[in-house]
Parts: sequence; structure tokens; C-alpha cells
Amino acid sequence: MSKFWSPGVEALTPYVPGEQPRQRMIKLNTNENPYPPAKGVERILRHFDIDTLRRYPDPTSIALREALAHEHGVKPEQVFVGNGSDEVLAFAFRAFFCRSEPLLIPEHTYSFYPVYCQLYGLELKKLPLNERWEVALDQLPADGHGGIAFANPNAPTGHAHERSALQGLLERQRERVVLIDEAYAGFGAESAVPLIDEFPNLLVTGTFSKSRSLAGLRIGFAIGSSELIEGLERIKDSFNSYPLDPIASAAAIASLEDGEHYQRCCKAIMKTRQHTHEALETLGYTVLPSKSNFLFASPSQESAAAAFARLRENGILVRYFDRPGLSDWLRISIGNDEEMKALVDVLRHEPGQ
Ligand code: PMP
Repeated sequence: MSKFWSPGVEALTPYVPGEQPRQRMIKLNTNENPYPPAKGVERILRHFDIDTLRRYPDPTSIALREALAHEHGVKPEQVFVGNGSDEVLAFAFRAFFCRSEPLLIPEHTYSFYPVYCQLYGLELKKLPLNERWEVALDQLPADGHGGIAFANPNAPTGHAHERSALQGLLERQRERVVLIDEAYAGFGAESAVPLIDEFPNLLVTGTFSKSRSLAGLRIGFAIGSSELIEGLERIKDSFNSYPLDPIASAAAIASLEDGEHYQRCCKAIMKTRQHTHEALETLGYTVLPSKSNFLFASPSQESAAAAFARLRENGILVRYFDRPGLSDWLRISIGNDEEMKALVDVLRHEPGQ
């Protein structure tokens, strides 16, 4: 406890992200994309007009919002952008869930959600997952809560609900905001974006960090009714957040312009995911079906902690969550074929040999 901290700071627990190694390792622990961003992004960065940096960025980020609106078949006033979807999520938690009733989130999901709840003083109720590691959306109460937030596909499980299930949920949830975090869209899951015109309480968030290989530039967005987007605009602060800096904006637009590159990388990742899934099953792992760029897998011959340590000793980082309910599992990001072969080779050798 520090005497300089404001009341409440002591109770906060900082979010601990996946390890960033200093030395070269095969990094399969933070769900980054193994492929480079679109060629157009490289052109933008090489030829960026430095003089632009003297000026504040366009306060409306309209060029990027228009490009995103075009990509998703919505209007620019239905799009919000921010510095990574983490920032957009933080705004959404502040804008929409500050109620006296608890926010519903899945028991195992993106670990930043409880952090936002702590930061913004939100009560939280965790929804248990069923034996298939899914939230039973059809059993959620229609009222008595302050909103619902979940990732689809979920992390760390990789499970995605079909759009028909999301529609069914939204038909029963007209009163509160439903936030669907689509950080892992692009790898085979159905997006909820086509539902936004029918459901003004639906907010979908997305990111350029995973399927578009731009985690380092911090580009996130939200799509929803203009009513929700206006709510986010009221929350955002000054020039530090939305609008995005001009380099990130230009790179994001260049990425959106190259749909072919996007499709090619996503397909390659899905193919490698399939091979890795099968290889892990051959080694006796239980592997959940995944619609994301990672696999959630549990070893049978050794503990997950031991497999994690063995991989680490061999220069391969995956994610191990030492938490109740998750400690038998590893979350393994899908790298390129060579990286995944190296992972399977390490795991194939019997522990201790
Ligand atoms: N949502 C989920 C479910 C995530 O796993 C992540 C990344 N770890 C994010 C949002 C945030 O991604 P970013 O801030 O890079 O857009």
C-alpha cells in the first residue's frame, strides 16, 4: 500500500499479459499472427509523410471508419475506433455497464473483463461453462443483470456460438447491452455484425491485432447502433485515444484494402490449426474444437504445467493459466507450420527422455 495511491487502487490487481521473451523463442503465447501484415501496410510505413506528425490527427477518424463501414456493410456512424480493442472494451464497460445489477460474463474468458469490472466498480457474475466448455446462451436470465459481455470465439477455449444462437440470445435480451468481443473473428466463426440493425443493444468489438497481423499498432473498433457508438464517443478522452494516430489509421486502411492477403493468412492459419489439432490428439491430448487462432489442449501423459515447462526449456512459449479450472490446459497460438512442427516434436518425446 502506498500513501500516494487514491482510495481503491490498493484493491486493484494488474492484468498480467503473456510473457514477452527477451531472447528469440517460438512465441505461441499471445495469439499473434505468424504472417506479416499486407504489403500495402509496408508501403504506407516506408513512405509515410513525416510532416503529418506535426498535426493532431483527424478528430473523427473518418477515413478509417468509412473503410471499416465498407468492409462490414454498415454506416460510418455505426463504427467507433480505438487504440486496440482493449481500449474500446474499456470504454464500453464504462459507458454501458455502470448499473447496480451484475454484469454477466463467462466463467472462463478474456481475463481483462474482471479487471475492467474492478476498475469501473462493476459487480460481476460469472456464468458457468457446460461440459463442452460453452456458455448455455439459451439459459441466461432475461433480466436481473446489468448486461452481458463475452468473446465469440471465446478465449481461452476457442469455442464460437453460431449466429442463430446469438440471434436467439438477443431476442430475449432487449433491455441491456450485449457486448460480443470478436477479437478472434476471421478464423471460421460467424460474426454478429449483420445483427446490429435489428438489435440496437448489440455492440460488437474487433481488432487488427490477430487476423490482420497489426498487434503492434494498436487498432481496435466497435460496430453497433449509432446510439451505442455515440455512448462510446461521450466516454473517450482527448487526443490520446480515438482518433487513432495517423500511422495506425493509414496502415489499417491499407490492410482493409488487401482482402486477398487477409483471406490467405486466415486460411493458412485454419489449415495449420487443423493439422496441429490432429497431431496433438495423436499424442493423447484432449483438444477442444477451435474457431480461433489458438487451440486449448490438455495433455494426458504429464501435467499441463510440466508440458509448459518442457516447451519453455526448448525455446517454445505457450500460455499456461495457473488458475482453478484451467490448470490442466494449455492455450497454444497457431504459428506457421514450422513452429507448430517444432512444438509437436517437443511434446512427442516422452517426459524425462
Ligand atoms: N479480446 C480478447 C478476447 C483478446 O484475447 C484480446 C487480446 N489479448 C483482446 C480483446 C484485445 O486485443 P487488442 O487490444 O490487441 O485489440
